[in-house]
Amino acid sequence: MSLAGEHLSGDRPSKEVDFHRAIYLANPSYRAVVHLHSTYLTALACRKDLNHDNALEAFSPYYVMRVGSLPTIPYFRPGSDKIAPALAEKAINHRAILMANHGAVVMGKNLLDAGDNYEELEETAKLAFLVPDDIRKHLSREEVADLEATFGKA
Ligand SMILES: [Zn+2]
Repeated sequence: MSLAGEHLSGDRPSKEVDFHRAIYLANPSYRAVVHLHSTYLTALACRKDLNHDNALEAFSPYYVMRVGSLPTIPYFRPGSDKIAPALAEKAINHRAILMANHGAVVMGKNLLDAGDNYEELEETAKLAFLVPDDIRKHLSREEVADLEATFGKA
């Protein structure tokens, strides 16, 4: 696919191609977008009590370094033309976005980087289910700030 939406070669693209294009156009620093319906992130995306500003509060340094935070977009039917603008708005300032009752999109500077970011996020979501909300110790604002000052903001 070209960035303009022209099918250049290969199989017909997924109906989700429009939101990939919208993310690239919203934030040109991203050179790869990975979208999956992986088990733990999709399970997280199905919770009733999601914090839509950040569905995963930081509790591990690797999540802070690779992803930072996880805003959520509302549920839309797969293929809906409402998905692309909702994701594009979040992609301006976020590397990963949870899609309610659907899955997640994670971006990176290349495909390997985006894949690594996705894997870290999926493992963080898995850990969030292993350590229930009421006993999980989150990183403090100061601990997150120290990580960002040392390793850069994700
Ligand atoms: Zn999907």
